[in-house]
Amino acid sequence: TVGRETLSDPAANARAVKSLSYLLGADVTGICEIPAYAWYSHGADGEPIEMKHRYAVVMLIDQEFDTMEGASGDDWISGTQSMRAYLRGAEIAGVMAETLRRLGFAARSQTNVDSDLLHIPLMLLAGLGELSRIGELVLNPFVGPRLKTVVMTTDMPLMPDKPIDFGLQYFCSHCWKCARECPCDAISWGDKVMFNGYEIWKPDVERCARYRLTNARGSACGRCMKTCPLNKVVTADGSVLERVASWCGINARALKPVLVPLAVRIDDWLGNGTRNPVKKWWFDLEVIDGVCVDP
Ligand code: SF4
Ligand code: SF4
Repeated sequence: TVGRETLSDPAANARAVKSLSYLLGADVTGICEIPAYAWYSHGADGEPIEMKHRYAVVMLIDQEFDTMEGASGDDWISGTQSMRAYLRGAEIAGVMAETLRRLGFAARSQTNVDSDLLHIPLMLLAGLGELSRIGELVLNPFVGPRLKTVVMTTDMPLMPDKPIDFGLQYFCSHCWKCARECPCDAISWGDKVMFNGYEIWKPDVERCARYRLTNARGSACGRCMKTCPLNKVVTADGSVLERVASWCGINARALKPVLVPLAVRIDDWLGNGTRNPVKKWWFDLEVIDGVCVDP
């Protein structure tokens, strides 16, 4: 087809695909080659999954800072924030995959509901962040932990990005705020361990899942994400203090032993991570037996 013949420059293709993702609403986008271990062996229907595409376009969707400021992280808006980001991601990846298919390339969206691949290794390989103390959460230097992912896989030739190191391992080694704030003590207070070939802070996923499913005071949970000192706005929309702190965190590595404990204390002192009532715009309502009630 015309697309396959003319769109053969991986660097130009990568620029165009990333630009399309930003036009459609992705917040940060990276690209990687897909390692065999990222593919699931079988689908939900029990059929083997074919490793059919070479590249993954990995996109982060911000769960939205302002709403999160008004929330506790495990109240009634929590599930909505997650699902909105998943839905937005599915729409973006679906439109992108269809665009690439029309240009003659194989492509498909890999969403929260239906994915042939694990997203976390792809996020790391695409340079979108580092694993954090929260555990199975890749934290991005710009969106922090406040993100959901969507992936589009394709055989279009693309220039991959590289994994990044922005000093998060040091920060998380000296900050225990997510472990302190987790309502069910599911986050590690200790050191990293080797698990499935990754050096990670291993969370108690059963405790976390049980709390999220049985939380009687809200829908699901994202309190670790809400209270993390790196849950900030560090673009031009953010405060000068937060932008300077973010710049120092990424660029002034030698100052980390002084800056990290200071940053965590100042974050607490400023009351960050608490609920800001001015930002609460939603009603806490639940539908039980077809009737809308105050939960
Ligand atoms: S989502 Fe909630 S329960 Fe799970 S680790 Fe984070 S704070 Fe703990
Ligand atoms: S709260 Fe602290 S320890 Fe937990 S993920 Fe954020 S920076 Fe790392």
